[in-house]
Amino acid sequence: MNTDQIKKIRADFPILTEKVYNKDLIYFDNAATTQKPRCVVEKIEQSYYHSNANIHRGTHYLSIIATEAHEAARSAVAAFLNAGKREEIVFTRGTTEAINLVATSFGEAFCQAGDEIIISVLEHHSNIVPWQMLCERKKMKLRIIPMNDKGELNLSVYAALLNEKTRLVSVAHVSNVLGTVNPVAEMIQIAHERNIPVLIDGAQAVPHILVDVQALDADFYVFSGHKIYGPTGIGALYGKEKWLNAIPPYQGGGEMIQSVTFEKTTYNELPFKFEAGTPDYIGSTALAEALHYVQEIGIKNIADYEHELLLYATQRMNEIEGMRIIGTADHKSSVISFLVGRIHPYDLGMLLDKLGIATRTGFHCAQPLIDELGIPGTVRISFAFYNTKDEIDTFINALKRVVTMLS
Ligand code: PLP
Repeated sequence: MNTDQIKKIRADFPILTEKVYNKDLIYFDNAATTQKPRCVVEKIEQSYYHSNANIHRGTHYLSIIATEAHEAARSAVAAFLNAGKREEIVFTRGTTEAINLVATSFGEAFCQAGDEIIISVLEHHSNIVPWQMLCERKKMKLRIIPMNDKGELNLSVYAALLNEKTRLVSVAHVSNVLGTVNPVAEMIQIAHERNIPVLIDGAQAVPHILVDVQALDADFYVFSGHKIYGPTGIGALYGKEKWLNAIPPYQGGGEMIQSVTFEKTTYNELPFKFEAGTPDYIGSTALAEALHYVQEIGIKNIADYEHELLLYATQRMNEIEGMRIIGTADHKSSVISFLVGRIHPYDLGMLLDKLGIATRTGFHCAQPLIDELGIPGTVRISFAFYNTKDEIDTFINALKRVVTMLS
């Protein structure tokens, strides 16, 4: 994408013209959450002003159009992930809730004492803790795929970890700390050779990589709307129909039922069986708008441009004495974690903030990974397609200043 295109895109994001401590905001915290284009915010406003009514249960006009919008959003998510059927998309509050849903429902149906779940060393807490809770509940074991010095998973150890006790593998498509893009297609294939299902945590992948759940042959694929320019509080679980049919509901309540008596409840069909209570139909509709916005720009264009930013920033950061980039996988997304000399990441982040630059510091919700690396945390910058090389130059100058002050 060229400078004019980026300029046009930036104009869609009003927040990018904000001042922070009287400085131009440079938002490099996109892995935590992305900013929202005007069309997404306007969609929320339009929905509340013109088509708000509870969905699925109403016979009146507003309820019908709100229901249609919510179900059209489901189709949009299905198309975005290339799911085979729209019923394979369950709306959740986000990645975390989707993983908890699978850990609870799949765990209930298919796991027992002595069984094992495999995750990797570079997982976000959201893809660790739900499995740990399941392991505690059912007296199971969590097995961990290790990585090399560059932050790439060791696939031979992974293959050796799979055994007759393994019930499920759950790994991130892209690491939120290291930026590593894991070879998930290959990992799924290896697990499937033993008929073991795989969940892919796509929170950091969908905004940057074209995802095709059928080509991947993923059993479950999850993501959060707010990381792909959509609103907070909405996300999705893709699950193969055969799995979603085979596992029990996650929560009980309205809409997930077919009939209720005090003696017995029967459950609704897919996907409603997993959507208890009033769904976030405003959020789903705004998420569909965000996906449409991204598709208009084109994920391939986004990936190419963000890769350019990644290479440029990496090269410029390496100019700084004492720079240590954490995560140097051959296949990386636009996330750069780093440390400089012995400076504490929190100090770096605090001073960069005072210069208008939003970075993130700490464990990034991946404490076991940070412990494994033996570091106190990192500073992380993460790019979106609205970021620019000029912003990277400003960041480098600011970082040089901050490093001099703290050294
Ligand atoms: N998984 C990964 C890889 C993430 O980066 C995140 C958020 O940072 C999550 C899961 C959790 O996402 P959410 O908080 O939107 O549920």
